[in-house]
Amino acid sequence: MLTPSDIVAPDKRTPGVMAIDPTIFPMLDSLYARRIKRLNAQAQLQEENGDYFRFLTKLVQTQQQILAQAPLDQAEATAIHALLKHGPDDAQLQPGLASIQSWQVAYATLAKQLAPMLPHDMGQILSDLSTDKTQLVSTAAHLLRSDYQQVNAGVSVVVWAALSSCWAQAVALRQDAAIAHSAAQAVCCPCCHAPPVASLVLGGAREGIRYLQCSLCEVRWHRVRAVCVDCGASGKIDHWTLDDAKSAIQIETCGDCKSYIKTFRLDYDPELEAVADDLGSLSLDKAMEEEGFMRIGISPFSFPL
Ligand SMILES: [Zn+2]
Ligand SMILES: [Zn+2]
Repeated sequence: MLTPSDIVAPDKRTPGVMAIDPTIFPMLDSLYARRIKRLNAQAQLQEENGDYFRFLTKLVQTQQQILAQAPLDQAEATAIHALLKHGPDDAQLQPGLASIQSWQVAYATLAKQLAPMLPHDMGQILSDLSTDKTQLVSTAAHLLRSDYQQVNAGVSVVVWAALSSCWAQAVALRQDAAIAHSAAQAVCCPCCHAPPVASLVLGGAREGIRYLQCSLCEVRWHRVRAVCVDCGASGKIDHWTLDDAKSAIQIETCGDCKSYIKTFRLDYDPELEAVADDLGSLSLDKAMEEEGFMRIGISPFSFPL
């Protein structure tokens, strides 16, 4: 039986020969559905964090609702592409964010749905931000520039989700224009410049091929295996798991630059979903940090403090 996936099949125009796609654009509705399923599974498994998983389930359900009820139009997609072309350090970032309505509307929808699930003060912070455009724009700009410490961690998750639902649609709508720079050596997303969540080793027709998954626009980009994603060295790469070597969630460390990236082996377990399952395997991160390694990339559900 075929496992439902949000990953489009590879192009096989030449019989028997499969070119490696440098980037894979997600099928967003399937991706959200899969993420919700995995978050629900985690909520059952992790009793003590059940409330947070239920909050995240609601967050992704609201993203799914935004996608269905208020899809991005071509004009907004074009405006987002113009912003992405300049990168997050450009002076145009803040005025550009202020002029794009879709993500601000998405934020207001998310805040309205999520605030009642939170303690009163936190709910109030989320609601107040939807009516303070200057503050909302500057919060989004901090996150896009990786100044995570400038933003309350709870607010980060919701603002990022609003940006993500719009950025992901923008790159999917205009795939031809979406690649801002070459994916071949990229640590950050070739479409939107955001850091990866994790690395995926795919199964099926792309068996064994490694992609990094963007934490913001959900695009995956190809990076060869057994080479450090960050510094490009290959001499001191190690793989770690909590249990056996066939574990579907692994860590790849580089002894040269002391970085690590989490790897989801979809060839071992096609049900895994990087964003949801990352949160279910934070004990691996803790173990790696105790060994002195720094994580490459971020989790959009758990921003660095
Ligand atoms: Zn991206
Ligand atoms: Zn390295």
